[in-house]
Amino acid sequence: MSIFLPNYFFNKIWDITEEDLKKIGARLLILDVDNTLTEHKQIFLHPKAEEWLSMVKNSTQIQLVIMSNTNNLKIKKIAEEKAIPYLGNAHKPLSSGFKMVLNKFDVQKSSAAIIGDQIYTDILGGNLFGITTILVTPIKLENTFFFKLKRKLEVPFLKQIKK
Ligand SMILES: [Mg+2]
Repeated sequence: MSIFLPNYFFNKIWDITEEDLKKIGARLLILDVDNTLTEHKQIFLHPKAEEWLSMVKNSTQIQLVIMSNTNNLKIKKIAEEKAIPYLGNAHKPLSSGFKMVLNKFDVQKSSAAIIGDQIYTDILGGNLFGITTILVTPIKLENTFFFKLKRKLEVPFLKQIKK
């Protein structure tokens, strides 16, 4: 398996049903923020993402953790608003943040999963560390040249997943 390929692929995070979560079987879900739960540069949760978070909290025993490579008031605000623990400056795709989170919640790698929209940080990081990886498409594509280039680079992998 390529380290760039996720174990699961959903369109948006809110397309992951309670049934899907059972099948995936993770006790700990690590959540990316930008473009997974919020639109890029938006400080509010997407309403559907907010609903999804409530569903997971109310209907499952799954522990949620927010893990972002940025560390700003937005992450803090969102995490505190939804009473979800968070780790900023996570340095995905490096393993240090993943290790810290799993240790904190005393969860084995086989019981943890990451959900994110970026292959080179969320998916690569999760695969290198050895947890289940779940790719979602960005809530809204970014417009800067850098992000456009990154998206282009991701296309060959996305094509492979769809096959
Ligand atoms: Mg993201």
